[in-house]
Amino acid sequence: VWGRVKNVCKQNGLLILSVLAVVIGCLLGFFLRGKQLSEQEVKYFQFPGELLMRMLKMLILPLVVSSNMFPANLVQATFQQYRTQRVPELIPKPTVAQLLDETTTRRVYIYGIQDDNGSDVQNFSLDLTPPPDVIMKTSPGTSEGMNVLGIVIFSATMGIMLGRMGPNGSALVNFCQSLNEAVLKIVAIVIWYFPFGIVFLVAGKILEMDDPSAMGKKLGFYAITVVMGLVLHGLFILPAMYFFITKKSPIVYIRGILQALLISLATSSSSATLPITFKCLLENNHIDRRIIRFVLPVGATINMDGTALYEAVAAIFIAQVNNYELDFGQIITISITATAASIGAAGIPQAGLVTMVIVLTSVGLPTDDITLIIAVDWALDRFRTMVNVMGDALATGIMAHICRKDFVKEGEQVRAFKAKL
Ligand code: ASP
Repeated sequence: VWGRVKNVCKQNGLLILSVLAVVIGCLLGFFLRGKQLSEQEVKYFQFPGELLMRMLKMLILPLVVSSNMFPANLVQATFQQYRTQRVPELIPKPTVAQLLDETTTRRVYIYGIQDDNGSDVQNFSLDLTPPPDVIMKTSPGTSEGMNVLGIVIFSATMGIMLGRMGPNGSALVNFCQSLNEAVLKIVAIVIWYFPFGIVFLVAGKILEMDDPSAMGKKLGFYAITVVMGLVLHGLFILPAMYFFITKKSPIVYIRGILQALLISLATSSSSATLPITFKCLLENNHIDRRIIRFVLPVGATINMDGTALYEAVAAIFIAQVNNYELDFGQIITISITATAASIGAAGIPQAGLVTMVIVLTSVGLPTDDITLIIAVDWALDRFRTMVNVMGDALATGIMAHICRKDFVKEGEQVRAFKAKL
C-alpha cells in the first residue's frame, strides 16, 4: 500500500501540493483576519499571489501568438523535412487555396502543399464561422483587458501570409517555433511556483473579503443556488455531452486537466489559466496541437458556460429581492442575454459582474442592485471560472474527436508522399 501511495504522490505531486495550498491558504487567511492587519500589510502579504497572476498573464501573449501562426509552421516544417532528405527535385510547392463554401456560407480555408504533379500531399482546413456578436471582439484593439480573440485572428492572418511567402518567411517562422518551445518550457518551470503562489492568492482574498456573517440569509441561498447549478453543469451536463459525442470517458479526460481546474479556482481567470490548460491538454490528454492552439484561446474568450449560468441566476435573484414578478418571456430573455453577456465577458476576474448590466437592463431591473451580490461574487467567480475552463477543455476534446478523420487522412497523404520519396 505504501508503495502505491508513494507512486500516486510522485505522479501527482504538483496537484496534491496545489490542493494543499488551497487548504493552507484558507486556514492562513481566516487566521490572519483575526490579526487586524493594516491595508499596507495586506498588500505586501498578497504580493506572492499577485506574482503568480503576473507570471501567467505574461505567458499568454507569446503562447497564443507563436502557436497560432500555424500554416507557416506547417509549411516550414515540411520544407525542412524534405530538404534534409536531399531530394531537391521533389521539394513541394506551398499553395494556399481559399474556398468559399456557398451552400453553407461558411468560409473554409484550405492550406495545402502540393507535389510537382499538383496532387495534394498535405492539407488541412480551418472553418471560421464567427457568430455576429463575436465579430466586434475579433478586431485587434478592442478594450476589456487582453483581446485574445483579436490576437488569434491576427496571428492566424500572419500565418496565412507567411505560408504564401514560402521560404522568404522562414526567419519569422523559425522565430515563432523557437518562441513556442521556449514558452512551453517556461510554463513547465513556472508550474512549480504555483503551490506557493496559491497559498497567498487564496489567503489574500480571504483577508480582503467582507464579514461573512453580514452576508444575510437571502444572499446565502443565492450563492448556494449558483454553486448547485455550476456543480450540475460541470459534473454532469458537460461530461455527458463529451461522452455522447466522443464515446470516451470524461473522467479520464477531466483527470488530465485537474491542474488547470485548480489554477482557475485560484486565479478566477480563464485567460490566466490558458497556458496551463494548453499544457494539460497537450501533455496529459494528447490532443492535437493544431486543435488546441486555435480552439482553446477562442474558447477562453467567448465560451463561458459558468458565467452565463451565474448571470441568469443573479438576475432572477435581483428580481426577487425587488419583488418583481418575471413572466416566462422575461425568463427566456434573461437566458438569452445572459449567454450573450457571457460571450462579451473577458476571461478575467469578476468580468461577469460587469456584463450583468446587459442582462438586468434587458428586463428593466435596476442595475445598481449589482452591488447586492458583490459580497459573494469573489467566491462564486472562482467556481464559475472553473466551469468555464472545463467547458473550453472538453470542447477542445470534442473538436479533436470531430476532426480526427481529417487528421488521419492528412497523415495518410503525408505517408504516401514520403513513400514516393
Ligand atoms: N472570471 C471569469 C473567467 O475568467 C469570468 C467571469 O467573471 O465570469 O472565466
